[in-house]
Amino acid sequence: MRQNGIHHVTAIAGPARRNLEFYTRTLGLRLVKKTVNFDDPGTYHFYYGDEAGRPGTILTFFPWEHAAPGRLGIGETQETVFRVPEGSIGYWMHRLVEKGVPHENPERRFGESVLAFKDPDGMRLALVAVPGIEGEPAWSGGDVPAEHAIRGLHGVSLLLKEAVPTGAILTDVLGFAEIAREGSLARFRAGDTALGGIVDLREAGGFLQGRPGAGTVHHVAFRAASDAVQDEMVQKLIAHHGIRPTEQKDRNYFRSVYFREPGGVLFEIATDEPGFAVDEPAERLGGALKLPPFLEARRASIEAVLPEVA
Ligand code: ZN
Repeated sequence: MRQNGIHHVTAIAGPARRNLEFYTRTLGLRLVKKTVNFDDPGTYHFYYGDEAGRPGTILTFFPWEHAAPGRLGIGETQETVFRVPEGSIGYWMHRLVEKGVPHENPERRFGESVLAFKDPDGMRLALVAVPGIEGEPAWSGGDVPAEHAIRGLHGVSLLLKEAVPTGAILTDVLGFAEIAREGSLARFRAGDTALGGIVDLREAGGFLQGRPGAGTVHHVAFRAASDAVQDEMVQKLIAHHGIRPTEQKDRNYFRSVYFREPGGVLFEIATDEPGFAVDEPAERLGGALKLPPFLEARRASIEAVLPEVA
């Protein structure tokens, strides 16, 4: 069966060092790639994920030292949700308290136990307790014991004026189907994809528009197994929805097209190939600053402007 679902989520952060410390130390994710924003090479691009940086485990950031805070609103990702084993919620409650991370009490959503919290930039995150995933691979080289470690993304929720047009893109183009409703939330699932398989659409009517900035999600990327599958999706977007994405851009670790979905959220379709081990060995992922070939000649001047992070 075709693997659909979320490939990665990319957000805007404040200071790079604080971002790195929170995601690798407090949350125990692996830094799987340290590179720069290819469109703005004076800025880092950090990729966090599981041990191998598999699609569906990746959260990435553009950290700007002096980024102004964004504001959550219509046409934005409301929350980014990770999966943890069912028995680990207690561990995580304790950990968030111990680390002084602002959080809410666990609540039930769609029958699942969810623990919502915020990162140092105010980005809304949550952990969802998923039964039966204790045996899934987990990064054991971090500060969180492997038994409690995050097992990739569960999904995202999007805050929208109306859900139907966005739902049509998810179902017709991106391989999702609507599986449940709860209050103003409609839940979409990508087949039997475990990692990053969920998108919740929250219809909020005339709420304020979002404003980009630190603590907000820049875009959500969805998976295409190959260039051919990506092209099929692009043809459907054009023919059925009148949406023409960008040309394909080579992001070194995947190849991407971008488009704004009808609800205003920036979507990307990223290939599963070639992955993060393309320019450094799997056991040393995230160890060195990696640059794409077209920026390698400018390495010295790029390194000179990037903030110290370690
Ligand atoms: Zn992306």
